Amino acid sequence: MKITQERMRRAFGFIPTVTFADGVCHLIGGFGNCGVVETDDGLILFDISMKPLGRKIFRDLREVTNKPIKYIIYSHGHFDHCFGFDPIINEIKEKGWDMPEVIAHENCIRRFEKYRMLDKYHIWLNQQQFASLKNPVEVSAHETLDPTIIIHGNDKYIFEFGGYKFEIYPEWGETDDAIWLWMPEKSVIFAGDLMVSHFPNVGNPYKVQRYPKHWALAMERMMEKNAEYLVPGHGELIEGKEKVKEVLSITAEAMYFVHDEIVKRMNEGKWFEQIFHEMIELFPDKFKNHPYLLPMYGCYEFAIHAVYRLYHGWYDTGNPTDLYPARTSDIAKEFLKVADGIKFLEQAKKNVDQGNLQLALHLLDVIINGSEAENALLLEALTLKSKVLKQKAETETSFIASNIINNGAILLQPKIKELKKKLKSQNH
Ligand SMILES: [Zn+2]
Repeated sequence: MKITQERMRRAFGFIPTVTFADGVCHLIGGFGNCGVVETDDGLILFDISMKPLGRKIFRDLREVTNKPIKYIIYSHGHFDHCFGFDPIINEIKEKGWDMPEVIAHENCIRRFEKYRMLDKYHIWLNQQQFASLKNPVEVSAHETLDPTIIIHGNDKYIFEFGGYKFEIYPEWGETDDAIWLWMPEKSVIFAGDLMVSHFPNVGNPYKVQRYPKHWALAMERMMEKNAEYLVPGHGELIEGKEKVKEVLSITAEAMYFVHDEIVKRMNEGKWFEQIFHEMIELFPDKFKNHPYLLPMYGCYEFAIHAVYRLYHGWYDTGNPTDLYPARTSDIAKEFLKVADGIKFLEQAKKNVDQGNLQLALHLLDVIINGSEAENALLLEALTLKSKVLKQKAETETSFIASNIINNGAILLQPKIKELKKKLKSQNH
């Protein structure tokens, strides 16, 4: 299935507000979404998006209802779900209303603590993950709207509000602090990022461990509710019992598939590289082409890493050479003593011509990492690497993967420019 620009926009939250469940619920689109339950006693907000989108979400909310916000529930502690609180707090102060109850899992509090400890690191890595965005992603957990009602362990939490019953279930999936909300009277599930409307973001290369099998179990627990509506953390409202069930079931199936096939191969004594390439060969078309499993943000390749990492240590090649490896630059220098850099460049070009872009990159890296002289050969290698990366990024649909690859090309530009200038001045 083709990923169009329009589909991408919708997945990233550019969707009009939808009112459903007899006018009681609203979905306000954003990155991520904000789910709203409107009762006679006030509002429940399920997620409040990220800080830069706080005003947008709030404006859209106030277009559909003026009732006070009584509960805020964090589906999990990621920055795109619980940091858009400024306009909400400002309104409460202005109107002299009571502060809302804020519900989250206990691990969400630990997450905020971690974000505070690693604040600069998270800014740095999010700038890479979101490199293609115009405004840099500056995330800080130094200001948080902290939970007042805390969910512990696997305990479900049930409460009544505005004449309705609400059930909150903790899960592991994208995170260990995930909770989802079930509203039985209106048959609505608010799923958070357990449903992102494309391939689960289960193996993000920058982030800590995620949980594919638990993700499948969460999907199954949601399926038991036989819900009419499912509000995803990202993407459009999923409507109709059959559709909701189908989307949950294919996601569970894909998570079980990647989990179980890797476990099987680990039990056969295979190392990561072999498992990875076998899994790529094995990927069934029914997952590859399913509209809710498209690799738009995360992807199947990343999920393979997630499962392996869940059960395996960092020594993943089975080759003792890799236990205490030499520096990449020292290895490359040795290669260049054996064969001239020009041979690596020629071979790289051959591979580019044959469409073997990945092999070309490995060959170019020998010159780039091993060259001691700043010469025309190095310039050519850098320029070709930048071209190859751009070419790869164009065909890469996963937002995270294409950012990593494209950002690699962008980071080469100052080096290329500087070297060009240097060589030019030497020639004069
Ligand atoms: Zn999210």
